[in-house]
Amino acid sequence: MTEPAVRVLSDDLLERIRSRAAGYDRDNAFFADDLAELKDAGYLRALVPTEFGGLGLSLRDVAREQVRLASAAPATALAVNMHLVWTGVAKVFRDRGDDGLEFLQREAAAGEVFGFGISEGGNDLVLFGSRTDARPDDEGGYAFHGTKVFTSLSPAWTRLGTMGLDSTSADAPKIVFGFIDRSSGGFEVVDDWDTVGMRASQSNTTRLTGAHAPADRIVRRLDPGPNADLLTFGIFSSFELLLAAVYTGIGQRALELAVETVKRRTSMKNDGRSYAQDPDIRWRIADAAMAQDALYPQLDAITGDVDDLVDHGPQWFAKLVGMKVRATETARDVVDKAIRVSGGGSYFSSSELGRLYRDVLAGMFHPSDDESAHSTVATAWLGPIEA
Ligand SMILES: Cc1cc2nc3c(=O)[nH]c(=O)nc-3n(C[C@H](O)[C@H](O)[C@H](O)COP(=O)(O)OP(=O)(O)OC[C@H]3O[C@@H](n4cnc5c(N)ncnc54)[C@H](O)[C@@H]3O)c2cc1C
Repeated sequence: MTEPAVRVLSDDLLERIRSRAAGYDRDNAFFADDLAELKDAGYLRALVPTEFGGLGLSLRDVAREQVRLASAAPATALAVNMHLVWTGVAKVFRDRGDDGLEFLQREAAAGEVFGFGISEGGNDLVLFGSRTDARPDDEGGYAFHGTKVFTSLSPAWTRLGTMGLDSTSADAPKIVFGFIDRSSGGFEVVDDWDTVGMRASQSNTTRLTGAHAPADRIVRRLDPGPNADLLTFGIFSSFELLLAAVYTGIGQRALELAVETVKRRTSMKNDGRSYAQDPDIRWRIADAAMAQDALYPQLDAITGDVDDLVDHGPQWFAKLVGMKVRATETARDVVDKAIRVSGGGSYFSSSELGRLYRDVLAGMFHPSDDESAHSTVATAWLGPIEA
C-alpha cells in the first residue's frame, strides 16, 4: 500500500501497540496505554487544522494511518476511529465553509477525546430517527434522556457527540445533534461490554439521564428522515471511510499472518515441503491477495475525493456505503481464507488470527449494514421504490 505522505504513527509505536493487543483482548480491558501513546504522538489531532494546533492531515492520510493502526490492533483502531470521525466531520464542515464545528477542532487540539454516542437499540433509522428524548432548556440547549448502545471509548471520552428527538418545540419534531461534556454528568456508563471481539474498544452502553448540551454545543436541528445536510454528509463520509480503513487493516494483517504461517507449516504428504509450495494453498493466498489489493486504491480515491471537494451528486452516498461494505466483507473473506490455510493453530484463543476472526465480525454490524447499503445503492441507480 502507498505510504502515508505524513506519518504520525512510527513503526516502533505500532509494534508496542501490537504487543499489547492480545492482553487487552484476554483481559477485556480498555486500551489505556495505547490511547496515551497515540495522544502523545499527536494522533488525536491528526485531522485538526494546523492553525488550531492540529497536524492538518488529509482524510486520505489518516485513512492510510488507520489501516496501519488496525493491522496492529483492530479494537484500538476502531475505538480511536470514533474520535477521528468527529474531527473528520469538523474538517468536512470547515473545508466547505461552515465553521459550526470550530469549537470541536479547538477542543480536540487541546486534548479532549470525542466519543460517538449515536447508536440506539432498535433504531434502524440510525441518523434519521431517534428513540432518545432531547428536551429543550429554553435557552437553545438540550438535555438528553435515552440509551445509547456500543459507545466505544466509554472509559475515556471527555466529550460525547450525541443526538435525540425534540418532540416539544414549536417546530418539532427535530433530530437534535449536540455535544455533552463528561464533567457535567447526566449519564451513566453501564459496564456491559463482554463481546466475542473488539474487546479493547470497551463500547459500553451509555444511559443518558439528562446530560446537557448548551446552545453553543448544539450543531444541528434536522427534520427526521433522510436529508442532504452537511452534517449527514460529514458523518457518512468520515464514518464509512475511516471504518473501511480499519477493516482494510485487519485484512492486510490476516494476509501477512497467513503468508508467514504457510511458509512455516510443513507437509508430510509433500516430503516436508512447506505449505507455501502447495498449489491449493497458493491459490487461496493469491485469491485473498487479489481481493485485498483492490481496496487500497479505492480507499485512496474516495477519501481523496472528500478532501478535494469532488461532487459526486446523488452517487456520493452509494460510493461511501459501497466502500464500507466492500472493505468489511473483503476483510471477512480474507481472514476466513487466512484461517483456512493456517490450520487449527488459529483456533486457539491466544492466536492473533483467531482474534482477527472475532474482531472482523464486528464489521457487518456497523452502519451501513448490508441491507441498508444495498438499499442506498439501489436507490442511487434505480430511484426510490414506487409507492
Ligand atoms: C465493536 C463495535 C463498536 C461500536 N462503536 C460504536 C460507537 O462508538 N458509537 C456508536 O454510536 N455506535 C457504535 N457501534 C454500533 C453499531 O454501529 C451498531 O449500531 C450496533 O452494532 C447495533 O447494531 P444492530 O442494530 O444490528 O444491533 P441489535 O442487536 O439489533 O441491537 C443492539 C442492542 O440493542 C438492543 N435492542 C435491539 N432492539 C431493541 C429494542 N427494540 N429496544 C431495546 N433494545 C433493543 C439489543 O438487545 C442489543 O443489545 C459499534 C458497534 C460495534 C460492533
